[in-house]
Amino acid sequence: MAAATIVFLPCWGSGHFMSMIEAGKRMLASSGGALSLTVLVMQAPSAAKASEVEDHVRREAASGLDIRFLRLPAIEPPTDCKAPEEFNFRYIQLHAPHVAEAIAGLASPVAAIVVDLFCTPLLDVARKLAVPRYVYFASTGAFLALMLCLPTLREQLTVSFREMEGTVHVPGLPPVPSSYMPACLASKKTNNIQCFEYYGRRFMDASGIIVNSSVELERGVLTAIADGRCVLGRPAPVVHAIGPVIWFGAREEPHECVQWLHSQPSASVVFLCFGSIGFLDRAQVEEIAAGLERSGHRFLWVLRGPPAAGSSYPTDADLDATLPSGFLKRTEGRGLVWPSWSPQKEVLAHPAVGGFVTHCGWNSVLESLWFGVPMVPWPLYGEQHLNAFELIADMGVAVQLKKMDRSKEDFFVEAAELEQAVRGLMGETAKGSKAREKALEMKATCRKAVAEGGSSYAALRKLVLEISPGGEGPSP
Ligand code: UDP
Repeated sequence: MAAATIVFLPCWGSGHFMSMIEAGKRMLASSGGALSLTVLVMQAPSAAKASEVEDHVRREAASGLDIRFLRLPAIEPPTDCKAPEEFNFRYIQLHAPHVAEAIAGLASPVAAIVVDLFCTPLLDVARKLAVPRYVYFASTGAFLALMLCLPTLREQLTVSFREMEGTVHVPGLPPVPSSYMPACLASKKTNNIQCFEYYGRRFMDASGIIVNSSVELERGVLTAIADGRCVLGRPAPVVHAIGPVIWFGAREEPHECVQWLHSQPSASVVFLCFGSIGFLDRAQVEEIAAGLERSGHRFLWVLRGPPAAGSSYPTDADLDATLPSGFLKRTEGRGLVWPSWSPQKEVLAHPAVGGFVTHCGWNSVLESLWFGVPMVPWPLYGEQHLNAFELIADMGVAVQLKKMDRSKEDFFVEAAELEQAVRGLMGETAKGSKAREKALEMKATCRKAVAEGGSSYAALRKLVLEISPGGEGPSP
């Protein structure tokens, strides 16, 4: 057992939990045995999420690394919340006494406490214990910059992001059209933006913010944060860009999707996948099918069914009932529709894949960049619209599907729009070819960042040194 432990407080969403544990493992490796990891596990509020977390905990607990998982007692969930964000906020806050108790009971001294970006209500526990406290930000530097700016932006806004015209100034990014503001801030539902504004304020109380990005990927926004251009008159905490942090699970047998890819030519297949909870309705499915068919390109399409009542997770799709009649027959050999969870990372790693139509969850984006696959962004929820903007306007690794229009409640894509975007993505247009080249450059950039001598490698080492026993501690 190491001399001191880092306490992690992750949130249950797979994109958050797994990313954070992976970051913790990298901190352990970088500390060379000086630190251990203690993960305080909140019971997820739904059975499906709880079982996903448990599966991951079981896998990691068996890894032989110096990681201890402590399950916090279950709490009574609040029942009068107006939006999921408000629920998460209050549900997490109710864990504060249990977190304090769990930390008080630890045998090892605590080197630092690291909380997920949604767990900032629990930063107070760390403050009371006078321990260095960090936020793990599993998304982009751009969204971090926006959240830091949010209190000021809100003072200036006369209408909501949803209603406003023109662009929003996010320091370090080109002007962001208001239609690319994250759905979690521009939604009609109440209380969401207040929660995010609260988180943005609380980040300022952290000793540092660990972000799953790298200087090379997001130089503009990370420089803007470091230069104090987000919160006027107050420098933001130091940002430790240690990414891309990507969790790769082990698989012995090649998955059916991967076996199918083995029989496809190099860079010929467009992959479509919409994250862990993305689901599209029947009318949209018909347009996708028609668009793919007309494009003439090969495809691997992860098509999920509607979530069961009370769940946010999609079910396995009934392909015969969902797809247009004869579609599977007509596209046999050049297309595979997969109705269930897919091995996304293995698919993106496969040389047959030439493009990715993605909902732009940040983990999916990083995975795509890691394997040099250009994208067509199709943002659905969370901060994904802003990610899409960054991919198109800042990084240049994506082909635009269509103009965003917030005045329409749903982002509906017609067959011809998808067809055109897929043709571009697969290299039929100059813009598409450019995006392909850029994506390949990003592949090299990402790998260089985390390798010895890279910026993320150095940021991780610096972070670990400052919290290790005998270290300097975080900057004041
Ligand atoms: N994922 C996967 N198979 C699927 C759908 C998703 O392996 O069929 C993985 C994907 O590789 C990524 C994660 O689930 O690691 C999704 O995280 P992301 O941040 O992209 O989106 P979220 O699901 O959190 O919206």
